[in-house]
Amino acid sequence: MSLICHFIGGKRTEGQGTRRADVFDPSSGQVAHQLALGTRQDLDDAVRAALAVFPAWAATPPLTRARLMFRLRDLLERRAGDLAAIVTSEHGKVLSDARGEITRGMEVVEYATGIPELLKGEYTEQVANGIDAWTLRQPLGVVAGITPFNFPVMVPLWMAPMAIATGNCFILKPSERDPSASLFLADLFREAGFPDGVFQVVQGDKDMVGDILHHPDIKAVSFVGSTPIARYIYETGAAQGKRVQALGGAKNHAIIMPDCDLPRTVDALMGAAYGSAGERCMALSVAVAVGDVAGPLIDAMAPKVRGLKIGPGTDPESEMGPLVTAQHRDKVRSYVDAGVAEGADLVVDGRSIALQGYEKGFFLGGSLFDHVTPDMSIYREEIFGPVLAVVRAPDFKSAISLVNDHAYGNGTAIFTRDGNTARSFVHGVQAGMVGVNVPIPVPMAFHSFGGWKGSLFGDHHMHGPEGIRFFTKLKAVTARWPESARAGAEFVMPTLG
Ligand code: NAD
Repeated sequence: MSLICHFIGGKRTEGQGTRRADVFDPSSGQVAHQLALGTRQDLDDAVRAALAVFPAWAATPPLTRARLMFRLRDLLERRAGDLAAIVTSEHGKVLSDARGEITRGMEVVEYATGIPELLKGEYTEQVANGIDAWTLRQPLGVVAGITPFNFPVMVPLWMAPMAIATGNCFILKPSERDPSASLFLADLFREAGFPDGVFQVVQGDKDMVGDILHHPDIKAVSFVGSTPIARYIYETGAAQGKRVQALGGAKNHAIIMPDCDLPRTVDALMGAAYGSAGERCMALSVAVAVGDVAGPLIDAMAPKVRGLKIGPGTDPESEMGPLVTAQHRDKVRSYVDAGVAEGADLVVDGRSIALQGYEKGFFLGGSLFDHVTPDMSIYREEIFGPVLAVVRAPDFKSAISLVNDHAYGNGTAIFTRDGNTARSFVHGVQAGMVGVNVPIPVPMAFHSFGGWKGSLFGDHHMHGPEGIRFFTKLKAVTARWPESARAGAEFVMPTLG
């Protein structure tokens, strides 16, 4: 059984730690690898390697950094098949979906190739007599990214290209559940020609996270994961004087209006609720059926949920793979139990599923609930599995209130043919990412990704223009040459003239 290790100073290393964690193949349910959990000493080694290269990297012309990003982008495209296979083997998602997340991550690399343009500052000539002023953005230093299991390539690539293109050195602490992709990425950064110490990986669990948050030489932490941990990361990191962006969990609502295109809406809901076994922060987990659309919606959804093709992610026929671990599968199943106990109507029960040859895999079928109400735990809490809750609402006003009153505010969508309703929704809804007849409105790399309310702690969204701001400090310069200065000391606040 292979040992998954760290990538420090340009080399794979087992590090100093002796603690190990099991990494599973979720389709077979077998332990596939051991993971070396790092120590504070390993983190110190990575920070030291980063600090050693940081001055030279920060001084590297943006165009040179951009050219390395172009090489990384080409390598990612060429090796996408191998990388997708790694993702599927540890996460469980179907291969085509793994390819999709690689593409979305690669798009951030493509955005980062524009760094010479993106780092251009602002200049004002003659702000006063003989005086010019301009702004520039400079890197923070050594920064860290802590990522969740559900996108082991895309989420690290939301962060690393932005951090590195802006001149920082980046240390990744990936999820301990599917850590192999992080090492593959490290190899690609190295092959692309990034200097040793610019992109590094330390493996670990909450102990390593604590070490990162308390390390005095780590200037910023970018986090994506569940809400309780995001809140802890934000509060602890900020108390240590770090810049923090911490993206949390979600409970994304889709409002289904009676005038929607029902067949297309049903297709959209199927993919958004059950794709990747519901393990997406942008999964639609609540459908708010407005007026008399509820009956036809349930009638159209139920056979499709029953007919979901569930199997290992490597089978091209599979639409949905297993859940990531046995514990997570059991947790999702217990939510279905809770929904039944709380009085929701379980239209499709995905709790018991047996796949020949994969009896020990972490599989679960799709579940569909009707008549869910806001007091139920299956409505209030993030399930993060293949479970869709249908809530019935009498009108648009009460539907949008449900979205706005919910503790999470990541993504949301409306399905309608009516422009006025869509416009009211876009204007009034309290969420960070909004779709109009688009079920998973993940912003493209040149926009920024982030939620509101309990879905994001901090000020900056991920990647795009917000990513540039997060990973840089703004400096404003005011300059004159001696000939233009007045003679004699001035003791008043400088003003124009
Ligand atoms: P998680 O919060 O359990 O883990 C995320 C990271 O935090 C991992 O690297 C993990 O090692 C670390 N961690 C876990 N427990 C910790 C603790 N007690 N102290 C310190 N660090 C700890 O999340 P997950 O299960 O890996 O991922 C799923 C969650 O991530 C869901 O809630 C999902 O909505 C969320 N997510 C959000 C977004 C977004 O953009 N908002 C994107 C993807 C996933």
